[in-house]
Amino acid sequence: MTVKKEFEQPSIENDTMSSKLFTTTNQLFAANQKLQEMQRQRGEMLANISHDLRAPITAIRSAVDYLTSGQNLTPEDYRTSLMLIDRRTATLESLIQDMYYLFCVEDASRPLERQTIDAAQFLEEYYYDALADSRYSRHQLLLDIPEDLNGKITVDIQKIVRVLDNLLGNAVKYSPAGSRILLTAARSAESSCLTVSVRDNGPGIPQEALEHLFERTYTGSPARTPGSATGNGLGLSIVKAIVERHQGQVSCESIEGKGSCFTFTLPFEACGFLR
Ligand code: ADP
Repeated sequence: MTVKKEFEQPSIENDTMSSKLFTTTNQLFAANQKLQEMQRQRGEMLANISHDLRAPITAIRSAVDYLTSGQNLTPEDYRTSLMLIDRRTATLESLIQDMYYLFCVEDASRPLERQTIDAAQFLEEYYYDALADSRYSRHQLLLDIPEDLNGKITVDIQKIVRVLDNLLGNAVKYSPAGSRILLTAARSAESSCLTVSVRDNGPGIPQEALEHLFERTYTGSPARTPGSATGNGLGLSIVKAIVERHQGQVSCESIEGKGSCFTFTLPFEACGFLR
């Protein structure tokens, strides 16, 4: 009998252990898949970045070759080539700056400079600054914040300003001059978060593009030169990285031909709304 008991006991433990092992194996599998996806995205990003760096460098190299070719160049030829070099250098600068910024934001070992501030007051101040900013002067900026939106958020102010700048910048870039851009804020359904939205009446985004929008490699156009319709494609990745460092989430709803609405959340301070 004793032998039987000793035999049965481990079998129950074995069941528990197999179930734990099964759960752990599944978790490991999921983690491994996530890692593989991140590695794929990183590889794709490096390939895109190499391409993006190569294009302006090639253009600058050609312009320099042309200027030093010994041909009889007119002052106008010099001016055109130098302007091209200037534009392409600006592209390189902005790409490198944005890549470095994204790298720093994603590096969890770099602390955020957090301050606790009143959410509504911060957004109002941002809005009035934006009204005075020439980048947004060709559009109608509107603000809608409920009067009872009491609550504090603990954020890196400069980084949240960057999120708003990127979203407002895109709204301006992709929607016609004179159209409305609405900045709204509200309390999330379960009250724990501030939700901020930037809504435009631009061309909208195709449904199939929505799921890729925040990937580091996504841009609406393969042409990433200044003056083209899009930028370097890092703007929304920077938005996502900053929001996620603040334990928030970002999303986009869009209807083609009608406009887009980008929304991000930020956790309220636990007792902020009791103020
Ligand atoms: P970029 O604008 O530099 O290309 P972003 O990461 O900011 O890079 O945006 C990625 C893409 O998402 C854009 O190329 C564009 O196709 C699309 N997009 C972003 N914001 C908007 C918007 N408000 N309206 C329409 N398309 C947008």
